[in-house]
Amino acid sequence: MVTADRAIAAYLGLAIGDALGATVEFMTPHEIALQYVVHDKIRGGGWLHLKAGQVTDDTTMSLALGESILTAGKVDTLAAAHAFDAWMRAKPVDIGNTVRRNLLQFRKTGNPEAPYSDHDAGNGAAMRLLPVALATFGQPTESVRAASRAQAHVTHNCLLSDAACETLILMVHDSLLGADKNHLLHQHAHRLVEQFPQFKFRAVRQSQNPSGYIVDTIQAVFQSFFDTDDFRSCLIDVVNRGGDADTTGAIAGMLAGALYGIEQLPETWLKKLDGDVRHSCEQQAKNLFQMGESL
Ligand code: MN
Ligand code: MN
Repeated sequence: MVTADRAIAAYLGLAIGDALGATVEFMTPHEIALQYVVHDKIRGGGWLHLKAGQVTDDTTMSLALGESILTAGKVDTLAAAHAFDAWMRAKPVDIGNTVRRNLLQFRKTGNPEAPYSDHDAGNGAAMRLLPVALATFGQPTESVRAASRAQAHVTHNCLLSDAACETLILMVHDSLLGADKNHLLHQHAHRLVEQFPQFKFRAVRQSQNPSGYIVDTIQAVFQSFFDTDDFRSCLIDVVNRGGDADTTGAIAGMLAGALYGIEQLPETWLKKLDGDVRHSCEQQAKNLFQMGESL
């Protein structure tokens, strides 16, 4: 399959995972099982009272970032900060604490880069990085890392967040090239754990109820991604762990979309996804991917 299709699948996978997971965000696996047995439908609801197919900050911040990259012609910290600030002014359905705090700081100081903090280790930069992955496809690793930090540091200037973001972007790149899952496991996931052992996800307890901490998020996503063999199973596995389920769903959906491709996106889920969101994801995926190729 051509890589542009995988780019589209990654973007739609992100939105599908967000819409699917949002229903059970902040629930425990036990509560989910009592209510749904297995949560496997895009049905809206949840603590945000969403319409079926509606997405949350994970997807809408990605789209805001993608627009800023296409307009600026590159991944630019100031352009991203303005885009996120405009997104926040439009009253999104949800927003993370770290995102809000550091965007308010940007309004005051005009400095688009958040101060370094080991405490800003939430998953807020990782959940929205797909546009950077697409726009930097084929570029040397050092420029990819710089671009990753340029978007991440607007709100999350933190070593663990950076390491996770860079790993995810490189995994998307290799998936676009048609790499198999074993390669992703050994070249990227295990390397992240070698560098930062707190990310260890194999031979540890299943990460249930993953919080917004980037380590919890990555453990849950990697366990689901590497222990299932298709897009649908991966997403059902990860969102039924509850916790920050829209975000684990979004990140797992991005990876699984890029790896398994467009044919594996379940038709029932695609049909439920908000039509405007679906269109924006498809358009941006194409345009960002083209931009990456032309650089
Ligand atoms: Mn969200
Ligand atoms: Mn979330």
